Amino acid sequence: MTERTFSIIKPDATQRNLTGKINAVIEDAGLRIVAQKRIRMSRAQAEKFYEVHAARPFYGELVDSMTSGPVVVQVLEGEGAVAKYREVMGATNPEQAADGTIRKLYARNVGENSVHGSDSQDNAKLEIAQFFTEADIVG
Ligand code: ATP
Ligand code: MG
Repeated sequence: MTERTFSIIKPDATQRNLTGKINAVIEDAGLRIVAQKRIRMSRAQAEKFYEVHAARPFYGELVDSMTSGPVVVQVLEGEGAVAKYREVMGATNPEQAADGTIRKLYARNVGENSVHGSDSQDNAKLEIAQFFTEADIVG
């Protein structure tokens, strides 16, 4: 089924000029970038976005890193886009990520791991709504 997922190219990647290379991996996997903008996440936005992790020891570091530079927020569309993008990103820790995945290719470490992707269709809808309106998305 055609569905949408939410993606973020994180500051560690935008700082290294990897936006185009990451987008090439996304598009080569058959996912369509149907909305995209480069923004600076406010602290409040990052805290809300990752609030499920608020009790984790790395939460402060995570919010710091998401606000340390520009991010590119995206909506991706395609067959089974949520699961497909998780596969294309690779494991959270790049040391465990499969060859050819974005995190294996580009991530620095488990914290600075270059990309975010939604983990369910419900979360994809909630996350997309935090950054885009329906009019921003052109399929
Ligand atoms: P994301 O939600 O960013 O797509 P994920 O779903 O693979 O990544 P989560 O478990 O949801 O992983 O963790 C969210 C983010 O928190 C990770 O992408 C990473 O940036 C950071 N993170 C996760 N585990 C650690 C850790 N052990 N140490 C430091 N940062 C971590
Ligand atoms: Mg996650």
